[in-house]
Amino acid sequence: MSAQLSVTIDLNALAANWRVLSERLGTTTCGAVVKANAYGLGIAPVALKLVAQGCTVFFVAHLNEGIELRTLLKAVNDIPPPIIYVLQGCEAGCEWLFVEHNLRPVIISLPMLLRWQGSVHGDHWPCAVKVNTGMNRLGLAYQEYADSLVRHAQWWRQVPVMLMSHLACADDPCHKLNLRQQMLFEQCVTSLKHLNPSALASFANSGGIFLGSDYHFDIARPGAALYGLNPVPGQRNRMQPVVHWGLPVLQVRHALKGEYVGYGAQTQLARDSVLAVAAGGYADGILRAAFPNIIASICGVTVPLMGRVSMDSLVFDVTEVDAVAEGDEITILNQQITADLQGAAYHTVGYEVLTSMGDRVCRRYKGAVNDMHTVNRAEGARNGK
Ligand SMILES: *Cc1c(COP(=O)(O)O)cnc(C)c1O
Repeated sequence: MSAQLSVTIDLNALAANWRVLSERLGTTTCGAVVKANAYGLGIAPVALKLVAQGCTVFFVAHLNEGIELRTLLKAVNDIPPPIIYVLQGCEAGCEWLFVEHNLRPVIISLPMLLRWQGSVHGDHWPCAVKVNTGMNRLGLAYQEYADSLVRHAQWWRQVPVMLMSHLACADDPCHKLNLRQQMLFEQCVTSLKHLNPSALASFANSGGIFLGSDYHFDIARPGAALYGLNPVPGQRNRMQPVVHWGLPVLQVRHALKGEYVGYGAQTQLARDSVLAVAAGGYADGILRAAFPNIIASICGVTVPLMGRVSMDSLVFDVTEVDAVAEGDEITILNQQITADLQGAAYHTVGYEVLTSMGDRVCRRYKGAVNDMHTVNRAEGARNGK
């Protein structure tokens, strides 16, 4: 039997992170972005834990993710069904699936809005509409939005609608685009609330929550910060790391000065060395670009990667470590080696480190919610935000 490749996900840390954000938001509702399998951590345990904290609004990217989330949340009794927004909106012909699965589309373009408004459910089913305030990714152009408010005033008045926009530079508090986007969004929200006072507004992602209350509006959409990534890079991280990833050592071998290691003989040994071959490779989300800078440690000693990352394995130089044996673990994510730090080491971001974790990596959970009934009574009652 080969050693089990696994990560440990601390759901109590996740819950604490959600509570920190929720407290900071005050009267603003703290939602949760759980797209891409909850940033790789596992949508089911993550969403159930957040529901137990009192989280009532979720965001996913795709319709399929929404259906998956709705299905698993059906198992939770005793609470009103959480709201689920689908960030990439509704493809033509899929309108009925949103109603069938109780999901809300985020309308991202004028053609999508016109199609939705003309559909059977478009005049009463809740939805969100996204406007572009400067990122130029998704959303109606400002003028399209302003024209729509005039042309379809009756629709905007009667539909339970949430206006959305997304910040391009929320993780850089000094960037001048933040205020520009905030002011334009504020203007969009004001015109809408004039027509429909019960309309909602959602603007802030993780970073946006730390830009100040002007950025909060009604519902915030943190993802990264929940999973322990630093929402304010450069400052002390207020979030707790959530992921611990140790790679099991498959084999320890001795090699002589002048020998080579791995594909392409990329590394030549400068001394007689003890090498530990560990499970985990690019198929598991340890990017090939992690060579040579990946941060790894065992028994508190930092160990360098020797040779390229293979599909299923990596080789570390453990000459400096006492008695490494088969089955020991080489750590690549923990309290000290955060996903942010690991990402920076090989020129990517913590987001990519987490979302790259492959399907073969077994997710183990600390603090999982197994019995929703117990939790609803014990935790849900106390956090009914
Ligand atoms: C992914 C995403 C978020 C979450 O962003 P974080 O930086 O992870 O907090 C929020 N809103 C939208 C539209 C997104 O696509």
